[in-house]
Amino acid sequence: MKGKIALEEHFNLPEFDHELPVYVNTDSKLRKDVQERLLDAGARRLEEMDDAGIEYSLLSLTAPGIQKQIDRGKAVVQAEQANDDLAELVAANPTRFGGLAALPMQDPVAATAELTRCATQLGFPGVMVNGFTNIGDVDTGWYYDHERFWPVWERAEGLGIPIYLHPRDSLPANTGLYEGHPELLGATWAFTVETATHALRVMTSGLFDRFPKLTFILGHLGETLPLSIWRIEHRASNLRDLRRFDKPLSHYLRENFYVTTSGNLHTPSLQATVSELSADHVLFSTDYPYESMREAATWFDRVPISESDRIKIGRTNARQLFRLDE
Ligand code: ZN
Repeated sequence: MKGKIALEEHFNLPEFDHELPVYVNTDSKLRKDVQERLLDAGARRLEEMDDAGIEYSLLSLTAPGIQKQIDRGKAVVQAEQANDDLAELVAANPTRFGGLAALPMQDPVAATAELTRCATQLGFPGVMVNGFTNIGDVDTGWYYDHERFWPVWERAEGLGIPIYLHPRDSLPANTGLYEGHPELLGATWAFTVETATHALRVMTSGLFDRFPKLTFILGHLGETLPLSIWRIEHRASNLRDLRRFDKPLSHYLRENFYVTTSGNLHTPSLQATVSELSADHVLFSTDYPYESMREAATWFDRVPISESDRIKIGRTNARQLFRLDE
């Protein structure tokens, strides 16, 4: 399929010293290759997009990005700089690239202002936050269910800006679960646990009752949630005294969440996800350069779904969600 739109497509800036963890790849040459690709938002990336039939990519600063900055003031300055630099990359190829804003969530007031600036002045149609935000030290993380973030979400809802909740490593206090099993860190499994739990924290906090039009996006076919939501909802229904949300959890997953195919090219999982969420809430993405654009596109172009669903997932859902036609 030509004309695909992809939205979990990462880049990096030279000022963000980004040593890739061993869990990305134990081969140091391949890690270096990923680092080089991250720094390219020009010829090499465009060539790969052409080869994969991807017309348009929404670029995002690679994880953990601004979210790992422990200093509130520095986070504000870095986010602004990163967004300005991204705006320049987009301006150099406006028909091929768009941007997802990075936000200094360490300072919710500044994050609200930066979201507004990115949406109204830089023309970014969405935001990517890389999991919880560090604050003060590496052992402290703020999750987005807390009411300190309500102003950010209120503004995002008002401006119609979707929030991509991307994985990051767990807080040090939570990594004991993987002790002796470094092969389970990162994208193998730890990212999924971290991000699915974060999404559930947001859902069960009642955030979507307060902001019913707010939309979040999850990568990797929804970090297992479309396949596990029935059991979560079933068990949560026994805990009425603890509930802070009004509707069935599956309602929020279907209405307030979109998921992408990034890094999860498993046909039965895609079919089950479409069955749970509908094809209207699934979008194509690749997770470049951690994953291969060509591999993602080759799978997606042939995966047994209806042609109308392929067009929705591959292109038209993204145009609608990010209002790319306006
Ligand atoms: Zn990613």
